[in-house]
Parts: sequence; C-alpha cells; structure tokens
Amino acid sequence: MDFGITVLGSGSRGNAILVHNNENALLVDAGFSRKELLARISSFGYDPRKIRALLISHEHGDHVNGARIFSDELGIPTYVTYDTAVFLEKAGKLGRKKVLFETGTAFDICEFQVRAFAVPHDATDPVGFVISSGNARIGIATDLGHLNSLCMQRLKDCDALVLESNHDIEMQNRSDRSQHLKRRVLGKHGHLSNDDAINALGELVTARTKCVFLVHLSSDCNECGLVSSLAGRKQEELGRADLKFVVVSQDKASQTFWLS
Ligand SMILES: [Zn+2]
Ligand SMILES: [Zn+2]
Repeated sequence: MDFGITVLGSGSRGNAILVHNNENALLVDAGFSRKELLARISSFGYDPRKIRALLISHEHGDHVNGARIFSDELGIPTYVTYDTAVFLEKAGKLGRKKVLFETGTAFDICEFQVRAFAVPHDATDPVGFVISSGNARIGIATDLGHLNSLCMQRLKDCDALVLESNHDIEMQNRSDRSQHLKRRVLGKHGHLSNDDAINALGELVTARTKCVFLVHLSSDCNECGLVSSLAGRKQEELGRADLKFVVVSQDKASQTFWLS
C-alpha cells in the first residue's frame, strides 16, 4: 500500500487534505494552524518533511489560515492561481515560494499529476483538483454552490472522491442565521447541501470508485449521523456494499484510504 489520502479535518474552522505516498506528499489547503497541521499529520505516523508542495483551492480563511507559516517552515512552494495569490499576499497568508498555475491546466509535482478546474463558489478564483498517480485518481471539491457540468465531468470516475456535503436544507432554513448568510450558503456560489452531494453520486460514482469522503459539514446546520445515514441509503441504492463512505469531522484526521 503506497498511494493514500487522508483528510486532516474539514469544516468552517479549517480544511486540509494530505495526498501521500512513501516518499512524497501534497497538502491541499492549510486551514489549520501550523501546530495543528503538524499534530494531525503526525497523528497517523506520517513525516511532514515528505510534503513537497501546498496547493490552495481558494482564499477563504478556513483553507489558508496556516498557509504562510506552514509552507515557510517546511520550505515548500505554494501552488496558487494568480488572482488568489494577489489576495493572499495582501492578507499576509502567502509563503515565500510560490508557483502560479492557471485554472483549467494540468501540471506535475513529483510523481503526482494535478489538474485544477474552476468551481462555482464565492471566492476570487476557486478551484477543485484531480490528483493522479499511476492509474489512480482522486477528485477533490470542498466548497462549491452547485455541481455544474465541468465539475461533474472532472469528478466522475475517480478512485476516491472528496466532496462537500455542507448542510441539511431544512436545518439551514430553520437556523437562526441571518437571511444574508442563508442566501449565500444556499446560493449557486455557496455550498453543496447533503441532497446535492448524495444525488450527484449516482452519476459521479463508477465501477472504479472505491471511496467517498463527505466533507465540510456545517457545525450548526448538519449532523454526522444524518450524513452517514444518507450515505448508507445511497450505498444500498447503488448496490455497492463495497463503496466506502467516510464522513469527515472538523476535529480530527480521517482514516487513510489507500488507492494502491
Ligand atoms: Zn470557501
Ligand atoms: Zn471552506
């Protein structure tokens, strides 16, 4: 077992995903403090000195809070789009070494092939990623208001999928959040609901898909148990008892899923 993915934690208080093998790793987003990131990476026995690059999906604090300090301490480059880099630089969140990429392009880092694609979210230039190594492929989309045809195309037929399942629509509507925030979250450039995510799996999951991480659960408008039961029902509907669902918490690293 070599190529694996571990979600270090996900939610509005921090997001980070480690894609790793025995020699090298990529960190997607650094929404926790340096100390917290290091603790969560060490919690499953991985050596953070094997991380070769930080990839940034977008500039929201829950994805970049530890970005500058973590990347500078490890001396690794931050891969980021130009518009997001400008924003991060102003906010003091961008490390010393940066590598710019264009949304829609593909590039290599060590033995990983990375393809960045645009996602509909209320940020400057938000992206999702497909990261491949050998024949195995991971699709990642943590913040998006809806799954447009480009997102569906990119996320379909991956071996492992990391997909937002942010809120229950009823809980969102009943919550005491402001109308402005509700409109933002529920809008086309906000966050995916449980129904959005689970329904899309009918098309995204193919015979090669072995694991789905459901991430970015809202702390006040969602519940782990609810997402797990929806996932269980979907698993039955798909007739895929072998398809693994991991509902990721905010507070600790998920189990590692091994792709090869
Ligand atoms: Zn966001
Ligand atoms: Zn977020």
